[in-house]
Amino acid sequence: MTNYLRDMTRTSEVQRSTGEYKVKPIKQKVRELLGYPYPTRIPKGVFVEQWVGISIDEFHRAKDADVKYMRNGHPLLDMSWSRADCTRYLTPLGLTDTPKSSCLGCPFHGNSQWRHIRDTSPSEWADVVEFDAAIRQGNARANASGSRLLGEAFLHRSRVPLSQAPIDHVTAAERAALRIGADETDVLENGVEDGCSPWACRGDAEALTQDDFGLAT
Ligand code: SF4
Repeated sequence: MTNYLRDMTRTSEVQRSTGEYKVKPIKQKVRELLGYPYPTRIPKGVFVEQWVGISIDEFHRAKDADVKYMRNGHPLLDMSWSRADCTRYLTPLGLTDTPKSSCLGCPFHGNSQWRHIRDTSPSEWADVVEFDAAIRQGNARANASGSRLLGEAFLHRSRVPLSQAPIDHVTAAERAALRIGADETDVLENGVEDGCSPWACRGDAEALTQDDFGLAT
């Protein structure tokens, strides 16, 4: 996961925390389903197959799991389906507006996604606001380098606590203060275009974990 940091020499510095918030809970659940909770050794040949919905538009983001007890499958790639193919399939089923999958507290959300959570799911909104506050001082174990966070981390691009972040609109003054153009304004409102999965987190492109959960590398 990539968080937005404040008070660093480069404000665009990021903290990446692949394992802590995404892969770790998945591994915990998989071990539970297999009947071998951590740190029980999982016998050779015992594994789950996990399907990850990456389309051919983003084939470069498909990755293997980093443990033997999980095998990633990519059915959309096997069928050579693009995002447009998925939409064509979903439309007659009345599912045209199926949103991109994403983590609830994804720092790549645009304002429209934050508003959607706030306006449609108060409990999830409370959850992400609490999470945003909880990461302010970072988490050394979650940091890919194992170092303590030097600045403050935020989920929203404005580097303002989520509960106070300007998610309802971007004013001309804010645009000017951020020195952003039309494309970046669109990302601010709608989030990044790509879909996602914990195994292909765009924030982790340069920081893959090779550990089992809980053991940050
Ligand atoms: S896995 Fe994707 S949705 Fe989740 S935090 Fe990373 S970029 Fe966001």
